[in-house]
Amino acid sequence: MIRFSDKLNQVHDRLHRAASAAGRDPGSIRLIAVSKTQPASAIRSLYQLGQRQFGENYLQEALDKQAQLADLADIQWHFIGPIQSNKTRDIASHFAWVHSVDRLKVARRLSDQRDPALPPLNICLQLNPDGEASKSGVAPAQLAALAGEVARLPRLRLRGLMAIPAPRTDYPSQLAGFRAVADALAQLKQQADHDGPGGELDTLSMGMSGDMEAAIAAGATFVRIGTDLFGPRF
Ligand SMILES: *Cc1c(COP(=O)(O)O)cnc(C)c1O
Repeated sequence: MIRFSDKLNQVHDRLHRAASAAGRDPGSIRLIAVSKTQPASAIRSLYQLGQRQFGENYLQEALDKQAQLADLADIQWHFIGPIQSNKTRDIASHFAWVHSVDRLKVARRLSDQRDPALPPLNICLQLNPDGEASKSGVAPAQLAALAGEVARLPRLRLRGLMAIPAPRTDYPSQLAGFRAVADALAQLKQQADHDGPGGELDTLSMGMSGDMEAAIAAGATFVRIGTDLFGPRF
């Protein structure tokens, strides 16, 4: 039996320590509980402890759990997995945030299909900062063009970048990997100031169980934590 209160407290402690080491306000860093493969009951337990942001990778699994948790009115769902373009309709209407947009076709469909009764969908572009062939994400050289197009789509709010840098075990190289993502966001902001409205660009979604400290040091505003909250995935 997992003691969710212990796990959540430990992750909050790490977040606070990393924030103060970096001279940052811990309130500027939000925790997304990544609940892929975990049952709805585990999400409900964390919700009852005050957690509100949850991240899911697989659409059908997410929709099933959302239906079971429909009574949790102020829960915030984040879609963080690869997006097939034939799945955009449900993603557009069942999530508050999508972190894994990496091509214009998907962004256009999400904008067209976002329920007009809902506020605009918050979007992070997924960057592939190390150019890993096996990973999704837009290449650094294509990022500015994609961001310029996405910022113009009416039912989307472009908020920033998400990234999963290549795995590194030592802190200095983790930090360098996350700083490259933060630099890419800073460049986008400059471009947006130049070219007119570019969305808020206030979001860096980066850092997982193994590297959240380095991500926070580099400026993460969302950390996405699965294993250290829920235990190993099944
Ligand atoms: C699974 C996953 C996470 C959480 O990873 P942990 O190492 O379990 O904390 C974060 N982000 C994405 C995109 C994921 O797929």
